[in-house]
Amino acid sequence: MRRPLVAGNWKMHGTRASVAELIKGLRQLALPVGVEIAVMPPSLYLHQVVMGLEGKAIAVGAQNCAVEPMQGALTGEIAASQLADAGCSMVLIGHSERRQVLGETDAMLTRKFAAAQSCGLMPVLCVGETLEQREAGLTLEVVARQLGSVIEQMGVGAFSRAVVAYEPVWAIGTGLTASPEQAQEVHAAIRAQLRAESAEVARGVRILYGGSVKAANAVELFGMADIDGGLIGGASLNAEEFGAICRAA
Ligand code: PEP
Repeated sequence: MRRPLVAGNWKMHGTRASVAELIKGLRQLALPVGVEIAVMPPSLYLHQVVMGLEGKAIAVGAQNCAVEPMQGALTGEIAASQLADAGCSMVLIGHSERRQVLGETDAMLTRKFAAAQSCGLMPVLCVGETLEQREAGLTLEVVARQLGSVIEQMGVGAFSRAVVAYEPVWAIGTGLTASPEQAQEVHAAIRAQLRAESAEVARGVRILYGGSVKAANAVELFGMADIDGGLIGGASLNAEEFGAICRAA
């Protein structure tokens, strides 16, 4: 049985005051047992969130890490070792906003993935197609390439300590959601790609869906065979809504 994971990606949102409010709301939530829950605030607020959620069963993750695992001369970046030191247990790798807006390549992301694991952080590797790619029938090819480049460099065994998040770019922050069947098709393909290398890894790996998940559509999505939870953007900024999504997992 795979333990569902629901992770809230706060993106570049928040102030000290709004983060304090959100922590207060999260602390008040009745959380489901058997579901792993995490939030991923902007790096600037990691310390505040780690401290604020002390004693609550919510893990804290980062949204990005440097390609180099250890601290050193790399201005403006944050090393995976520093994230671990700050109390993080996981990190997003290759969110589509970073791939698209900041030009992060599969090669860079593989280095980040490796850096995260070498510091004991669990990478959450984000993959997904754009609308143009979906309309051109390239969805499975694009996702296979993104996942394949990490498998090739790291070996499939690396996914026994990692999570994959399928996030169709056209569904992120747009209010459009992949239908449960559309999402399941891609999740099944991701698992099949891993199974071709290791049945054991494929059985154990958690594949999250992300893209305009809300309490209203979470039950249906999470009910699909290969969807093991969600990566939640906008809706994770509201503690009550996030709690309802967690309870749907
Ligand atoms: C995300 O940023 O990972 C995401 C899925 O965003 P949203 O839920 O707002 O679409």
